[in-house]
Amino acid sequence: MQKIGIIGGGQLGRMLVEAAKNLGFYTVVLDPTPNGPAAQVADKEIIGDFKDASKIKEVADQVDFVTFEIESANADALNDLVGEGKDINPHPKILETIKDKYLQKKFLEKNGIPVADSVEVSDEEEIKKAGTVFGYPFLLKARKDAYDGRGNALIKNEIDIKDGIVKLKDRTLYVEKFVPFVKELAVVVGRSKNGEVKVFPAVETIHKNNICHIVISPAPVKKDITQKAEELATKIIADFKGVGVFAVEMFLTEKNELVINEIAPRVHNSGHHTIEGNKTSQFEQHIRAITGMPLGDTGHTAPFSVMINILGERSGEVKLEGEEKLNEIKGATMHIYGKSETRPERKMGHITVVGDDLIEVLEKARLARSIISI
Ligand code: ATP
Ligand code: MG
Repeated sequence: MQKIGIIGGGQLGRMLVEAAKNLGFYTVVLDPTPNGPAAQVADKEIIGDFKDASKIKEVADQVDFVTFEIESANADALNDLVGEGKDINPHPKILETIKDKYLQKKFLEKNGIPVADSVEVSDEEEIKKAGTVFGYPFLLKARKDAYDGRGNALIKNEIDIKDGIVKLKDRTLYVEKFVPFVKELAVVVGRSKNGEVKVFPAVETIHKNNICHIVISPAPVKKDITQKAEELATKIIADFKGVGVFAVEMFLTEKNELVINEIAPRVHNSGHHTIEGNKTSQFEQHIRAITGMPLGDTGHTAPFSVMINILGERSGEVKLEGEEKLNEIKGATMHIYGKSETRPERKMGHITVVGDDLIEVLEKARLARSIISI
């Protein structure tokens, strides 16, 4: 049986393992927390930090394919292992570029991809100067290890700069011009080892407090916009020569222009609906891509699918309630990630609803979420 090692063992790892098991692979997961979401379903868990080179090697030494579910995986250690002949995808060099949001922006710019203007900053003076050039508001962002908006500060005026510096203290920063968007879109795209590319239909993502809240598939925008979004995502993954599934987050402006926000070199929250909403899920597609299998059909299974996240609302032990009532909502499927502790805004699970009518599907998704507590 061929074996896959996954660096990182959260919910993305869990859904990757589930897909890998369905395709007949043996799975090994590396994560610092014992019995986390992915380890619960994997064949084997190795407990250790995903930055720990010796632990990453321990995984790589016992599998045929290595991949990761988290950007903070140690790119240097992975790269050394590629040098030793290990099969690691996406290539650690891509991870290295993408995990530093500023380097990522410059890479995209160099390849002619539309992105917001950005500049490196190292102190308050430089941030002020960037404000003068870009205008207010702008975003002060941590270059690395940012997720769910936790590495971002919106700077509305000069007075906000000090608070931004405090919020993001001890991190290397850059400033990004504010993009006044009307919608946020995302495109998940898979590319296999032989260069075959299959793109999932573009979706709309709705954020709340900087965290992905709802995903609507397909994005309710004009066809020429989704087409352009899908073409851009396809070009980006080809520019990176990426193997695996990538997610491309973008802004749609009032003038119907698309500006790329950022790339994730991995499966992504904006693709969770594909488990029920598409013929192949983003997780299966990733496993197919990294193991050299042909890519699966990304077409819809129903006209619409809507995914709503189940975020924690309190701190403490998990206590799932309301799931028996979900059966009454036709077309709804719930995924619980198996985390033992809940916390405000922690991603605990998600619900996907599929159906023929977008308004109805959206209403059902909101209703389903409201009857669940965790
Ligand atoms: P995630 O983990 O959800 O991808 P993140 O921590 O990587 O989040 P970003 O994607 O940089 O953070 O930003 C989070 C959200 O903040 C975006 O989805 C968008 O709503 C808003 N945002 C980020 N950059 C800009 C910008 N330049 N102009 C306007 N809004 C922005
Ligand atoms: Mg983002």
